[in-house]
Amino acid sequence: MLPAELTAYYTRARARALRTYEARRNEAYAAIPRLPAIEAEMKQTAFDLGIGLRKASDKAAYRQSVGEALGRLSMERARLLADNGLPIDHLEIPYECRRCGDTGSLPDGTLCPCARARLLQLKYASSGLAQDARFELFRTSVYKNAEQKKRSLRAKELCELYAGELALNGAPGLVLMGETGVGKTYLLDCIGRRAIERGRTVQKYTAYNIVDLMLRSVRERTAAADLAAPELLIIDDLGTEPMIPSITFEALFAVINERGNAGRATAVATNLSRAEILEGYGERIFSRLFSQKAYSVIELRGDDLRIG
Ligand SMILES: [Zn+2]
Repeated sequence: MLPAELTAYYTRARARALRTYEARRNEAYAAIPRLPAIEAEMKQTAFDLGIGLRKASDKAAYRQSVGEALGRLSMERARLLADNGLPIDHLEIPYECRRCGDTGSLPDGTLCPCARARLLQLKYASSGLAQDARFELFRTSVYKNAEQKKRSLRAKELCELYAGELALNGAPGLVLMGETGVGKTYLLDCIGRRAIERGRTVQKYTAYNIVDLMLRSVRERTAAADLAAPELLIIDDLGTEPMIPSITFEALFAVINERGNAGRATAVATNLSRAEILEGYGERIFSRLFSQKAYSVIELRGDDLRIG
């Protein structure tokens, strides 16, 4: 089943193709008076085929003669179009996708490749991920020294492993630590993209977004966004959100704790140190983020890329 957005897209695409076809046809019919007669005859010939076949004593010969008649008509139409400087497919409906005729599905009921591509696009667009980040485009040239290049490349490899399994060293959580500008967000986006490509559901928020969602649900008395649902939840910029008493901590703890208990994959990036996390969020969040069973930690700062 295609989501409503895609169904609407294909409905519009078919209507557009049909309008273009009709405009072209009217123009061609006006310019070439013989054309409508040819097309009417082709239609009638094809329509009569069924009845004719039933009556015919030699069905194969009959089918062949009809085929030849249609061939002649189609040749004549092509010649007339060419004589008038029009392309041979001028009177075909110009679907964007010829494989599915802009329906999104193939005759055997499977999704057309064009629909699969659009579905992925839709998932990226609604995931909160940057559109252009991907492991294949990861460049170490942005890093100044050789040591940093090596470290970031190692971090990228580990993130790729994580993205493939939604686990690293058996832990379904990942914490990327390091100052601003070491590429944490980019790596998170790469992880998210890879996971979507592998068919996972992915949602990315900043910690700020999560607190904001929580605030809004309290204020508007609506249900909070379902942060338990995506197979991979990405939380960027932990530590930049406002500390609102009885909101910030509760919102983040609920997410981290519930996902942790359910064993669901959660990738977090922060520019806080361990000490700052312990101080800012307290023991309950700290102990979950730094329990080896639940989270693997990649540190992109300091002299070594440490993994623990
Ligand atoms: Zn298609």
